Amino acid sequence: MVYPESIADLITALQKLPGIGPKTAQRLALFILTLPREEVIKIARAMVDAKEKTHYCCVCGNYTDGEKCSVCADHRRDASLICVVQEARDVLAMERMREYKGLYHVLGGAISPIDGIGPEQLRIRELLERLQNSKVQEVILATNPTVEGEATALYVARLIKPLGITVTRIAHGLPVGGDLEYADEVTLARALEGRRQL
Ligand SMILES: [Zn+2]
Repeated sequence: MVYPESIADLITALQKLPGIGPKTAQRLALFILTLPREEVIKIARAMVDAKEKTHYCCVCGNYTDGEKCSVCADHRRDASLICVVQEARDVLAMERMREYKGLYHVLGGAISPIDGIGPEQLRIRELLERLQNSKVQEVILATNPTVEGEATALYVARLIKPLGITVTRIAHGLPVGGDLEYADEVTLARALEGRRQL
């Protein structure tokens, strides 16, 4: 079936979203056409607003629309504990679990020579600066259980250990090759509980 150009464009745009194939994109596009105009504008505006207002926390690299993220701004959090993750979305996965009370540090990726990502492209220097003269006692490395995630964890561990801070790695209850953000809360809680010292 041939769609008018505007609908075809919408279908193409929706297919850029993760997990949306051509069929789902068609269904969504046709559904959007049935919505009242205000609803459509609300959805479109929410997307643009989220994109424009969201940036990274100046301390940890988590998503925020302020200067500091809600975790860094919360003085009840345990400042002796920092959990290092690859992406800001991993913080959201950890927070969904509701068991972790420490702070975070987002690296912004993992070391991957094939993709041209070296340690200097990640927020590793910022992490080391944060650890200087801090009350951090333990750094939990929660990078993804992939080759890149493991390599990154080992690299960061080597830099932190001389500072006299305990370095732990989350356990492998996580599916190997998987992403932290797709782990369910129970699996993630077990992985955190079963962390071992590096
Ligand atoms: Zn923060």
